[in-house]
Amino acid sequence: MSHQASTAQVDAVVEKIGELGLTPELSKGEDRSIIGVIGGNAYAYREAFAHLPGIQEIVQITKPYKLASREWKTRDTVIRIGDVSIGGDEVVMMAGPCSVEGVEMLMETARHVAAQGAKILRGGAFKPRTSPYSFQGLGEEGLKMLARAREETGLKVITEVVTPGDVELVSRYADILQIGTRNMQNYTLLQEAGRSGHPVMLKRGMSSTIEEWLLAAEYLLSQGNRNVMLCERGIRTFEPATRFTLDINAVPLVRELSHLPVIVDPSQGTGRWSLVSPLALASVAAGANGLIVEVHPHPDDALSDGAQSLDFPTFDRLMADLQRLTGVLSAQPAN
Ligand code: PEP
Ligand code: MN
Repeated sequence: MSHQASTAQVDAVVEKIGELGLTPELSKGEDRSIIGVIGGNAYAYREAFAHLPGIQEIVQITKPYKLASREWKTRDTVIRIGDVSIGGDEVVMMAGPCSVEGVEMLMETARHVAAQGAKILRGGAFKPRTSPYSFQGLGEEGLKMLARAREETGLKVITEVVTPGDVELVSRYADILQIGTRNMQNYTLLQEAGRSGHPVMLKRGMSSTIEEWLLAAEYLLSQGNRNVMLCERGIRTFEPATRFTLDINAVPLVRELSHLPVIVDPSQGTGRWSLVSPLALASVAAGANGLIVEVHPHPDDALSDGAQSLDFPTFDRLMADLQRLTGVLSAQPAN
């Protein structure tokens, strides 16, 4: 719509879209509104709008994902959760154990990462393990421990939800729902998480293309949920030397293609604690809006992912290095 379009003119266009059996998606910007038209061959109906006043331009979104694309929304999405902003100027650190193993280890980790500047506590209560014989998580007890840690430290909480029936339960305790790599194409889970309106972090499927990942994000967005962030966590390649291959290319590429914040998980992405900090720094240099990192008071004793978990001193060095790196990145070049 043009800058001068009145509310009545915007409403008339929205109404017309509905009359044609298409779905309107209104985005009110600071200086103008954009109305998305979602539906089979929506662009073919453009003539029907030619006579309506207030329209500045009718543009075809050429990407198969629409609401996730920069064509639909040029400005970065910033997700606000209390006093934490994801997708803005600050690089947000999410840190904590792979799994919530017990209240003491969780509180110890939460206090430590909060003191070092992390804003969000991670920890799985429902764990989608490759083997059915591996530790499966503490379930709701684990969620309660996360909520307690939030209360004491002020950290926000991110935790995984693995089944549509648990979206409501997990939303009661978590500030951000994590959709794991093994569930990226679980479309009923995506729809339920989308409907919840709760902030969601969508991990990339380990064998998914970037387009499939953005189409999965579209499932969340098309349910009316605009609080969606993406997480690159490594993909399967021919290389067995590391657990996965962290796709750094994806970070600046997805930020070009989409307005959604991009988080990187160098813990799952490498599988080795000694590689986590270098890849975390590389991700931020490549434009990541945040990191999610596994930290454990005693990685050797962890019930899951100990080999890729940072101990406290290593995490502290990473936080110091990140501070120096973001200082360099934000410094204006003198030209
Ligand atoms: C995790 O974050 O511990 C996890 C299981 O992640 P992913 O889904 O990326 O494997
Ligand atoms: Mn893990």
